[in-house]
Amino acid sequence: MKKIIRIVLSVLISVILNSVNAHNSDSVRNIILMIGDGMGVAQVYGGYTANKGFLNLEKSTYIGFSKTHSANKYITDSGAGGTAISTGQKTNNFHIAVDTNKQPLKTILESAVENGIATGLVVTASVTHATPASFIAHNISRYDSLDIAYDYLKNNVDIFIGGGKAHFEDRKDSVNLTDSLRQKGYEISYSIGDLDPASDKKLGCFVADYQPPSVIKGRGDYLPLATKKALEKLNRSKNGFFLMVEGSQIDWAGHDNDLEFLLTEVIDFDKAVGEAYAFADENPGTLVIVTADHETGGFSIIDGDLVTGNVEGVFGTDDHTGVMVPVFSYGSGAEEFAGIYENTEIYHKMRHLLGLK
Ligand code: MG
Ligand code: ZN
Repeated sequence: MKKIIRIVLSVLISVILNSVNAHNSDSVRNIILMIGDGMGVAQVYGGYTANKGFLNLEKSTYIGFSKTHSANKYITDSGAGGTAISTGQKTNNFHIAVDTNKQPLKTILESAVENGIATGLVVTASVTHATPASFIAHNISRYDSLDIAYDYLKNNVDIFIGGGKAHFEDRKDSVNLTDSLRQKGYEISYSIGDLDPASDKKLGCFVADYQPPSVIKGRGDYLPLATKKALEKLNRSKNGFFLMVEGSQIDWAGHDNDLEFLLTEVIDFDKAVGEAYAFADENPGTLVIVTADHETGGFSIIDGDLVTGNVEGVFGTDDHTGVMVPVFSYGSGAEEFAGIYENTEIYHKMRHLLGLK
């Protein structure tokens, strides 16, 4: 009799545990998607070594790999790479959220807005640069910054922070898009210190005319701070939020084959990851995904020292490469991101977890 009770109890407990687990995956209300542009496994380990054996990323609970080829090229660019993640469809290189027939594709950010979910973008590039543009704009060319800036008026993103002020205020067509944004109800600021996350207005913050400086050239703690402020603003949403944070310049360091530039950008991006993981700890129902659109530089580490932080790295190219890139995840629903899959799956998994219609 005791044995039967024990069996019944263990069956009941496993049923309850399974339903709790299922509930965990189903109850994602906030997604923080972090893209280290050009960040492959060697870039991550280089940052770990330069930081003398510590990265916040190590807290990640599930790891996957994403296959990054675009619709027309084995080696993707950041337009097609961003579009795959933001829309779930592979497109041609240089396209921004349009398909191979140049037709617009609805992005996860646009779907979130339609579903009453708050949204945000935080980058270390111009806000019109390929990666953020893939979430908010539609264009056959990533280089059409003036038109991409216009698309910020067509969306209702709750907070955006990055460079690119000139694309809004110093335009060939003499239109001042910042004035238009203000008319639409945005509060615009020009330094991260002046951005007030307690404001009830939609917020835009331009921290540079074009590209913000690198960490080496004095960007300071802008990215972790901007991430923290965006989370404070978005956390007041009743229906949860979708935030994309990009460590944009990891890619540029790879193109430049500049080791110090690369390692300092990875460590800076990891500080923003630390902010996101801490937020997830404090706010159940938050999922953090940290990935890349592709690897840049064919970077590898041939020697290093975890005590001194010295890294000996070599680059195989000044362009992107075709290797799979890591997908780190943490928080509610993180288990969905284990495995090897196409970059487009990241969109489908996020969409499913947020329950977007
Ligand atoms: Mg980018
Ligand atoms: Zn690049």
